[in-house]
Amino acid sequence: MTLHEAQPIEAAAPAPRRSRQARVVWGPRVVTVGGDAPVRVQSMTNTDTVDAIGTAIQVKELAQAGSEMVRITVNTPEAAAQVPYIREQLDRMGVDVPLVGDFHYNGHRLLTEYPACAEALSKYRINPGNVGKGDKKDRQFGQMIEAAMRWNKVVRIGVNWGSLDQELLASLMDINSRRAEPWDAKSVMYEALVTSAIDSAKLAESMGMDGNQVILSCKVSGVQDLISVYRELARRCDYALHLGLTEAGMGTKGTVASATALSILLQEGIGDTIRVSLTPQPGESRTQEVVIASEILQALGLRVFVPSVTACPGCGRTTSTTFQELAKQIDDYLRMQMPVWRHKYPGVEAMKVAVMGCIVNGPGESKHADIGISLPGTGEAPAAPVFIDGEKALTLRGENIAAEFHQIVENYIEKRFGRAPATEA
Ligand code: SF4
Repeated sequence: MTLHEAQPIEAAAPAPRRSRQARVVWGPRVVTVGGDAPVRVQSMTNTDTVDAIGTAIQVKELAQAGSEMVRITVNTPEAAAQVPYIREQLDRMGVDVPLVGDFHYNGHRLLTEYPACAEALSKYRINPGNVGKGDKKDRQFGQMIEAAMRWNKVVRIGVNWGSLDQELLASLMDINSRRAEPWDAKSVMYEALVTSAIDSAKLAESMGMDGNQVILSCKVSGVQDLISVYRELARRCDYALHLGLTEAGMGTKGTVASATALSILLQEGIGDTIRVSLTPQPGESRTQEVVIASEILQALGLRVFVPSVTACPGCGRTTSTTFQELAKQIDDYLRMQMPVWRHKYPGVEAMKVAVMGCIVNGPGESKHADIGISLPGTGEAPAAPVFIDGEKALTLRGENIAAEFHQIVENYIEKRFGRAPATEA
């Protein structure tokens, strides 16, 4: 093929989404999930809910990190009794993030016996695998749905393969055993996950629940399993989908597994709200899962949360750590400023900064960024050209390159994104 015959290469983009839209509400704050809403980031506390102050503080930290809904465990009467106080503390602190109650086994009782808890939550997570057994199952599930309708709340019907409805699984295995060509065990398990979620949603609708107020999830801990299950779930229904790899694990493993699974599905338009279920490393902040979820969405071009810093990996041409330090400083600084800048400098989150290690790709990459610096590699003259809006603006030299570049970035942000001061009448 000659160059004249070549067709333009299309830019990749996530497929459009097609789900219904749920409205998760607290006071005037409305977080839409699904439909044309942006993919939402959510997280979950790991405090004891009975510790209302500790839980409210962690919810605030997660919300400030960018979590648009925060789930809390509601497992005992004591925890349910504290939920309204947690909500009150948050409201006092000016934190309007909607709270989601995570219920297992006794949610029907807690939502009925603690109406202030039912009211203070904006969404209820119901696990159909543990709402009750036998004839209690539908009755207790129905009690939770009634509470959601009474208080006008969204429900997430959240199936998890660790607590899959065993009666349903047994009945599907029984059906499978009578097939002329039985499916393998994994396929039966996939079917049980999807059936449990969709049948429960249909049951909720048959009880009068608005289908738009139902969100589904089918969480598993294997990447390929998650992809298979969610593709099928998305094919069979149009409820908004909560997407996440359950028990993703710790550190790099959990991060990579979550990013891999979620990215593939999000690129296919599957997933309306995400959670990264990361086990924190000892001493690590709970907010790390929010940072990773946000980074996944930003990397895919689905959302923009913080200015991005492009930095090269370094190589034999960068024998000092100057550029690594500068890249980290700039990245930390931009991230730290965002809670204030989001309001002070509208649009700053889309800014691109490049910090590069040498002349090979440094000037080119810096020109693609809004503002970039190409530091001198080993053996190069000790000069660092700075590029602003694609043009070389100046060259920094000497010992204070880092501090001077920092100042240049700040000046650029103020000039480009600062609001014009209000004129006095
Ligand atoms: S830009 Fe230079 S220092 Fe950075 S990875 Fe490429 S060659 Fe190495």
